[in-house]
Amino acid sequence: MIPAPFEYAAPKTLEEALRLVERHGDEAKILAGGHSLLPLMKLRLAQPRYVIDIGRLRGMSYIREENGHIAIGALTTHAEIESSNLLRAKCPLLAETAAAIGDVQVRNRGTLGGNLAHADPAADYPAALLALDVEIVAASTAGARTIPVNEFFLDMLTTALRPGEILSQVRVTPLAAHTGAAYEKLPQPASGFAIVGVAARLRLGKGGKIEDAGVGVTGLGPKAFRAEAVEKALRGKKASDKIFTDAARYAAQGVEPLADLHASADYRREMASVYTRRALKRAFARAQGKA
Ligand SMILES: Cc1cc2nc3c(=O)[nH]c(=O)nc-3n(C[C@H](O)[C@H](O)[C@H](O)COP(=O)(O)OP(=O)(O)OC[C@H]3O[C@@H](n4cnc5c(N)ncnc54)[C@H](O)[C@@H]3O)c2cc1C
Repeated sequence: MIPAPFEYAAPKTLEEALRLVERHGDEAKILAGGHSLLPLMKLRLAQPRYVIDIGRLRGMSYIREENGHIAIGALTTHAEIESSNLLRAKCPLLAETAAAIGDVQVRNRGTLGGNLAHADPAADYPAALLALDVEIVAASTAGARTIPVNEFFLDMLTTALRPGEILSQVRVTPLAAHTGAAYEKLPQPASGFAIVGVAARLRLGKGGKIEDAGVGVTGLGPKAFRAEAVEKALRGKKASDKIFTDAARYAAQGVEPLADLHASADYRREMASVYTRRALKRAFARAQGKA
């Protein structure tokens, strides 16, 4: 299929891109890696009048330490996140999650910002970023604002980004001592998208007590979410296989699971528990320095 006609602009600076996005409003679409937008345009499910290509903007692709956190530019590709030595050392969950996305071609072109802004209910990063409790920076001509990731995903393909905003950066707090994190997913075999994907982060205290837990789930419902009932069932308890199994039963609490040709709602609900337990067990092993 061939996309509907559109006008194309390739701004050279973020400021120029922001002015174009503001001027064209709903008639414009931002193009980053194109791996979600272009298929939609080819199917004519998206027919923007203006395509604003931010892929050539300099200075929006980076992973660096800044004021106690790790800042990742929106145009950083999945492959760059997967191979980042800084992330592997200080937040390996993100590198592990990036490595689980699609295939090499998708990882070489797809960007962190595009993946988050698109808010596909089966995308991988949202689970990891929710478990890590990151902040998302949105830029506009009026300046920049930060959005806690827990407030970012509103619904299927819908985020808290406002008209005229460009997602510019993700801020990650490096993992604290005695913390482990892991991502486990049941992939759809052709695309790699998550039928269910669960990221878990555990911080241990004295005697193996769980002091803090973050659990993000993707694929299950219309939007990725933080499994607060699981986290609550873990906090303050002594880590054990039984605790993980018991807590994982709450993974789908309060969520109406999606059903499609890949998996029924019941199957997704069951898999949410299974993959939560697996992610918790691996996060625990890592918190103990065992994996
Ligand atoms: C075959 C295939 C397999 C895939 N498998 C997986 C998978 O296993 N897991 C997974 O998570 N994803 C998967 N994807 C999706 C892939 O990760 C995409 O790259 C990603 O979802 C979108 O990133 P992009 O840079 O390509 O964005 P684009 O396609 O360029 O844009 C996507 C949307 O986000 C908007 N946008 C882009 N950047 C910004 C920004 N900085 N600020 C505001 N809005 C912005 C665009 O306007 C558009 O609406 C797959 C894609 C394909 C084609």
